[in-house]
Amino acid sequence: MKQRRASAALVACLLVAGCATAPAREVQSAAVLAHVGFLASDAMRGRGSGTRDEAIAAAYVASQFQAYGLRPAPGLESYLQVAPVPVSEHAQKAGLTAEATTTSAIGFLPGTDPNAGVLLISGHLDHVGSKNGVIFPGANDNASGTTAVLELARLLAATGPHRRGILFAAYGAEELGGVGSRFFATHPPVPLESIIANIGFEMIGVQDPKLPAGTLMMTGFERSNLGVALRARGGLVSPDPYPEEHFFERSDNYQLAKVGIVAHTISGWAMAPTYHQRTDTVGNLDIAFMTRAIQSLVAPITSLANSDFRPQWTEGGRPKAD
Ligand SMILES: [Zn+2]
Repeated sequence: MKQRRASAALVACLLVAGCATAPAREVQSAAVLAHVGFLASDAMRGRGSGTRDEAIAAAYVASQFQAYGLRPAPGLESYLQVAPVPVSEHAQKAGLTAEATTTSAIGFLPGTDPNAGVLLISGHLDHVGSKNGVIFPGANDNASGTTAVLELARLLAATGPHRRGILFAAYGAEELGGVGSRFFATHPPVPLESIIANIGFEMIGVQDPKLPAGTLMMTGFERSNLGVALRARGGLVSPDPYPEEHFFERSDNYQLAKVGIVAHTISGWAMAPTYHQRTDTVGNLDIAFMTRAIQSLVAPITSLANSDFRPQWTEGGRPKAD
């Protein structure tokens, strides 16, 4: 069929982005549901680390970054960073060959002050895939955190420019031991010393019954003054009620923390019974909680992106390098 030509009016309308309705300046529950719905759909087969499904998830996130007006990071030619998956017991169990690669999606919002540093907002987009034909959807782990990265990217792009640059990263192969984030930390698309802090999002789909309603926990809270700073700016973040689980060391933030960046992960109920189960479905997420949780961080992150405050480790809080 012959292609119809778009009318001049439609083209003008598309160029000004959002002619019919102004872009939403708040986290949208419909967008939250749409993102987790796609990422945790059967079509994505659990976004297994280092698989084509994971690469498709990364392409999805990258295309959203592009639509929001983010740019490729200064050190990258596209919105994707592809890394080799090291041969490991985990990788072999996942059925990956020595040639396997993992893909992270990375987008950048340039700041107005090139000396003010860069804020890194992140989450991992992979999950554990499927086993014996059974799909593990990974809606909470971590389609939810990826969705937080997406909605924050959309909003911060719409309200920018900000003083600091903001990098948004959705890593691959976290489930194989932080493969994508380790590659990012060793092949950083901006100088590592310019990154003033990293806020990661992981499993924010359900309220933790141990915490006050609407509150999220931040892993390694006492290791730096970032959590206190987010709180002072209205963020509903609490110390991690499960220190024995060592969550600080169990997500991508740790790869960044080991190279010196003040890096933490914000979570909902990290002990949710659906963890790594086939029941980690969109139906078991609390979309209203998730929407509020992401919204609660918009003002604190915006404030951090426009301030001079540079978070610091507390005494003994910085983990040792490898
Ligand atoms: Zn996981």
